[in-house]
Amino acid sequence: MNPSPNSAAPVAVNAPPAGKPLVTPRQLTLVFVVALALAWGFLPEFTVSVLSNIGLYALVAAGLVMLTGVGGMTSFGQAAFVGMGAYATAWICTSPTAAAWMGNAVSPALLPWAGLALGLVFTFALAWALGAVTLKLQGHYLPLCTIAWGLGLYYLFGNMEFLGGQTGITGVPPLVVAGFSLATPRALGVVIWAVLLLALWAMHNLLDSREGRAIRALKGGRLMAESMGVDTARHRIKLFVLAALLAAVSGWLYAHLQRFVNPTPFNLNIGIELLFMAVVGGAGHLWGAVLGAALITLLKEKLQDVLPALLGTSGNFEVIVFGLLMLFVLQRFADGLWPTLARLASRWVRDDTRKVAPAAVHPSTVQLAQRALPASGELLLEASDVSKRFGGLVANNAISMTLKAGEIHALIGPNGAGKSTFFNMISGVDDPTSGEVRLCGQSMATRPSRAFAALGLGRTFQHVRLLGQRSVVENVALGAHLRAKRGWLAAMLRWDRAEEAALMAEARRQIERCGLGAHADTPAASLSLGQQRVVEIARALAGQPSVLLLDEPAAGLRHLEKRALSVLLSQLRAEGLGILVVEHDMEFVMNLADRITVLEFGTVIATGTPAEVQANPRVLEAYLGGADDELLEDAR
Ligand code: ADP
Ligand code: MG
Repeated sequence: MNPSPNSAAPVAVNAPPAGKPLVTPRQLTLVFVVALALAWGFLPEFTVSVLSNIGLYALVAAGLVMLTGVGGMTSFGQAAFVGMGAYATAWICTSPTAAAWMGNAVSPALLPWAGLALGLVFTFALAWALGAVTLKLQGHYLPLCTIAWGLGLYYLFGNMEFLGGQTGITGVPPLVVAGFSLATPRALGVVIWAVLLLALWAMHNLLDSREGRAIRALKGGRLMAESMGVDTARHRIKLFVLAALLAAVSGWLYAHLQRFVNPTPFNLNIGIELLFMAVVGGAGHLWGAVLGAALITLLKEKLQDVLPALLGTSGNFEVIVFGLLMLFVLQRFADGLWPTLARLASRWVRDDTRKVAPAAVHPSTVQLAQRALPASGELLLEASDVSKRFGGLVANNAISMTLKAGEIHALIGPNGAGKSTFFNMISGVDDPTSGEVRLCGQSMATRPSRAFAALGLGRTFQHVRLLGQRSVVENVALGAHLRAKRGWLAAMLRWDRAEEAALMAEARRQIERCGLGAHADTPAASLSLGQQRVVEIARALAGQPSVLLLDEPAAGLRHLEKRALSVLLSQLRAEGLGILVVEHDMEFVMNLADRITVLEFGTVIATGTPAEVQANPRVLEAYLGGADDELLEDAR
């Protein structure tokens, strides 16, 4: 026998899972849908009506799951967008003015569809405008602002003469589809649930795509995503508009279900309730929206019956109970109830999504964008007199340096010398107070980090920035964001599968190359910190960079891993990349770098070959001044 180094550790990767799960989530969804469809005709009138309402709420809550749970933006004002959808169709279907505008061009059966179009257009425009203004706000200001416009729109509905004021609009006609009048909840409910399921499917697809990975980075990973080339501000607005459009569709269906509209169902209370549904059900899980909508709708029904009887007087007591329940749920289940439910069901439900390698299913026919690598010796990055002040502290003091294709340039210096700050200056994360950065011949003043990424700069972070809950391969694929181009609609309709397969194949290739092949499908957070650093390198490489900035890549790596990293970086240099690396391990740096620049207190105190730097008295003094005499050891 000839044991390979890998077989020393017990291999558990291919072991069959304990117990035999019965179904996949997909099959379970199918069972749910079929059961609902079969039962629909036989359910009592009241149940059908409640289910229709649940469907309407779930549609809005699903948008909120995307916006709040996945995207990290809280909106209390979603009910106002429901109102937009409802009022648009109610107005078009009943107003003589609208009829006069359209002349006889639109037959009565088509009026609701005109209402849908109007609602969507209005909502799109308003949400985009509101989003552009309010989404720039940070922290608590954004939710506060959503309350402000939520209230504003609600009062607008009630004060507009042509919208019927507080009385609202009556006589909204039923929806007519292919000659069938959907006048009863049983008939329209079918449409409501069809729309809901379609929306869930589309958003599920969206999240499972290139754009989905960018969306997932909006919550807590914006700086990183920008460095991968993602326009996060634009994605935030698009997500906001998407959630608003879903709310408007729900409003449109609502108007044709109730057949009248008034402002009450679109007030702030309902906006808060909708947010409850999304959060209680499962913040980041689409089906959590359905669960939350069902729970809260049913609970509200029950409480409205039980509480007045129990207390002997009538009043909105359910709101108080709601508040208390909310506190309890959020204390105990911060991620909502869906993850807990999924965990309980995990004995019977097998999560098959992780194990399918898309590349194996769809042999890729799409080529990702390729970047021509620069000629060896070409000047890639040039910093001239770059300074950065934080108040009175000069973190970078007139630093000048260059990086050429086919070289490894190391930046060393004691902690707090300003190395990471300098990385931020030359990657567009932060703007220099003075001085100029040029990348591939272009001046980069005031340009965002995604412009640096577009020009071929890839980087890692000293403090690892990964999406911990997502798999390694998804994290790495985000690095290739700019090499593909399919957008939101294509993702929702799964027109992006070939491109997605190419992205995944590329991500897996880079993971293999960096020696993490066995971990491709594990959540990034479950790797060791050293391995997570390597994931960051793989992610940077997936963007096919010509300039690579590595901030302490070897920190936390074991000896053999460091050696493997060294080999990888030498290989990349041979391929023509320019690599700038910050590192504390002197043996690693001295054996690898072609040139070294030494920083102390934000100032360059030496630059040259490893031998020159090691012999430099100022450098020796700086390093001996600290407790670190490694450099001296190396110099001997
Ligand atoms: P290094 O990476 O070389 O250890 P840094 O670039 O992280 O050093 O920090 C250089 C100096 O700038 C430190 O004194 C640090 O406290 C300060 N500094 C870094 N970032 C900021 C910031 N955003 N605001 C204020 N001071 C900062
Ligand atoms: Mg640092």
